[in-house]
Amino acid sequence: MIVVTDIHKHFDGFHAVDGATLEIPTGSITGLIGPNGAGKTTLFNVIAGNLAPTSGTVTMNGEDITGLKPHALFEKGLLRTFQIAHEFHSMTVRENLMMVPPRQTGETLWNTWFARGRIAREEEALARTADEVLDFLTISHLADERAGNLSGGQKKLLELGRTMMTDAKTVFLDEVGAGVNRTLLNTIGDAIQRLNRERGYTFCMIEHDMEFIGRLCDPVIVMAEGKVLAEGTIDDIKNDEQVIEAYLGT
Ligand code: ADP
Repeated sequence: MIVVTDIHKHFDGFHAVDGATLEIPTGSITGLIGPNGAGKTTLFNVIAGNLAPTSGTVTMNGEDITGLKPHALFEKGLLRTFQIAHEFHSMTVRENLMMVPPRQTGETLWNTWFARGRIAREEEALARTADEVLDFLTISHLADERAGNLSGGQKKLLELGRTMMTDAKTVFLDEVGAGVNRTLLNTIGDAIQRLNRERGYTFCMIEHDMEFIGRLCDPVIVMAEGKVLAEGTIDDIKNDEQVIEAYLGT
């Protein structure tokens, strides 16, 4: 379980996150919602190690992880999906998956030379894992497509696929639903749900699409003005006067 306690993040005196306290239960798909400017992305950045908080703590299974950088969090099994970088657009979908985790560097040329057989075997194993991931995500037909040619939703699936190439089981998703058509959104939702149920993934996601949130997320946490305004099931949230007011007020 990730416990966020009284996180503040100030930018030149502006309180983007202003004392946020929340829990992300292990095994949950936790949704983080709220009007624009509520501080969701900033809080996400703090938990995922992209920003140091001004004050407050983040723990994971009782261990203080406040301010740890993304690579240190990755070693602890926490990962945030990122857009496929431009330089990977000319590579195929399968190659993009095989780039994860990044290959160990530091081997001397000689080692590499003698290790050719081993590297070839590792590549075969990676390719097999990549193909299993594509099969799981129902996008095997895209294996040899260049990443740059994918639609927005297919790119989101590839981002999810990249996390599956790692051992990370706690995954932060940033607006997977943005600009994705309904059919593909359902495919993404199914993949998230299956990873959660069948493989024990914990997800925390910022999302605007309420239908998507309602289908997948429990608990749902609502932020407004840098604080947590409410949390509960989607039905609790929908009927919460303060939440309705926060959304209508923007
Ligand atoms: P949300 O994701 O809920 O829309 P954000 O976390 O992106 O909210 O932003 C919360 C507030 O903090 C906004 O008013 C935004 O302008 C401000 N903010 C975010 N990042 C910075 C920054 N690096 N410098 C100054 N202000 C920022």
